[in-house]
Amino acid sequence: PATQTSVALAHGFADDLPEMAIAWQAEEPPDPRLLVLNERLATEVGLDPDALRTREGVRMLTGAAVPEGAHPVAQVYAGHQFGGYSPRLGDGRALLLGELRAPDGRLLDLHLKGSGRTPLARGGDGLAAVGPMLREHVISEAMHALGVPTTRSLAVVATGRSVQRDTLLPGAVLARVASSHLRVGSVQLASASGDRALLRRLVDHAIRRHHPDLVDADVPALALLQRVISAQASLVARWMLVGFVHGVMNTDNMTLSGETIDYGPCAFMDAFDPQTVYSSIDVGGRYAYGNQPGIAAWNLARLGEALLPVLDDDPDAALALAQEAIDAFAPQHATAWTDGMLAKLGVRGDVYPQVASSLVGDLVAMMQATRADHTSCFRALTDAARGDATRMHALLGASEELEAWTRRWMALHPDGEAMAAVNPVVIPRNHLVEEALAAATAGDLVPLERLLDAVSLPYAERPGLERYAEPAPLAFGTYQTYC
Ligand code: AMP
Ligand code: MG
Ligand code: MG
Repeated sequence: PATQTSVALAHGFADDLPEMAIAWQAEEPPDPRLLVLNERLATEVGLDPDALRTREGVRMLTGAAVPEGAHPVAQVYAGHQFGGYSPRLGDGRALLLGELRAPDGRLLDLHLKGSGRTPLARGGDGLAAVGPMLREHVISEAMHALGVPTTRSLAVVATGRSVQRDTLLPGAVLARVASSHLRVGSVQLASASGDRALLRRLVDHAIRRHHPDLVDADVPALALLQRVISAQASLVARWMLVGFVHGVMNTDNMTLSGETIDYGPCAFMDAFDPQTVYSSIDVGGRYAYGNQPGIAAWNLARLGEALLPVLDDDPDAALALAQEAIDAFAPQHATAWTDGMLAKLGVRGDVYPQVASSLVGDLVAMMQATRADHTSCFRALTDAARGDATRMHALLGASEELEAWTRRWMALHPDGEAMAAVNPVVIPRNHLVEEALAAATAGDLVPLERLLDAVSLPYAERPGLERYAEPAPLAFGTYQTYC
């Protein structure tokens, strides 16, 4: 029996796409306790932080209390996981509570993760542990502060129920806010159903939701495909520029909105190495840092394939349209990445393309050879542009090669102040994330709150926060993440 709270939630997804929505109710947590509330986000989306802190508010954040008129659903989708196709995935431990209209007019999903088993849970227990949900909270907030499009975390509530993983862990529910939870895998599911009307309805729903300017496009599916490709080309470039390794770029973890989703095994790269992999299950390195653009293109090709039936009645014409759209990914991504790297180097975007690509390429080669810390290295270059090259020499090794590179770079008059605005001082460093999550799991939220504060202003050099800007001590060793 659901209690009612007064948040107005729409159910456009369930109404438009009933084939992809299973009405479901979250489990009642035995002893819900609010661990973190993103007050700024709550206010931004039109929710009252004080109301969310009440007993009924906290129950709503776990799905136990359903707002009047809301119809929570588990969303069904398909997806390629590590290259293999699964025809039926979906929210096994998650629910879409509904859609909420923010004061600025945006329509946003309010979604839960860890709210209990659904009919899509397969072998899973439907639950989530405090550590991984707080990890999503910290890292998604850091991404947002860094300017990278992302789903947001509204709150994490400890449930008072234990979750069996390698050990028994405290359970939690994450409340997430996103432009939508439509995924490449959603389109794959609709396409595989063989029901062209459903696929068309999904395309129309996505266009109305994300790109209302495309409603009158000649071929809506093509226009949508092109937009998703552009959004992902830009998104993955943003990841690369801050050293983010997503870790599980399955097609069900790639949004149509272009927001980063699923912070399971992700991590920020320390030493620069394109082969960096943190996820314990990514044994083949499929989702290594340097593979991310290629994997995104592969996923988008799966999206193009799924859209073939609604691109053109003539299969050859449909294939040609999809191919042309997908071919645009690589140049769009390359441009976004090169422009971003030039900005990180404080160099104007109108330098000759050959100069730009060799300057960037040679730096990347030096960083890889010296295994320089990615984040510190760009901050050291920022110092160098402002006249102090000490840290740059310490990180990249004072070589003839570096001297030659620096001369070429300085000839382009890098702007140190512009660099300081785009090269973060603080990212959620792996050792600090682990330290904060371990403490929170043991009941101490102070390190987590400090870390959240540090990552919320990533471009500022703040006295007293030096520890958050430094690479992991050697003793931290090799890092592994689990999803
Ligand atoms: P992911 O790799 O995190 O994107 O998850 C892949 C699929 O597994 C999704 O459909 C999830 O809903 C489902 N899943 C992950 N963990 C659990 C769990 N503990 N219980 C039920 N389903 C889960
Ligand atoms: Mg997922
Ligand atoms: Mg996940």
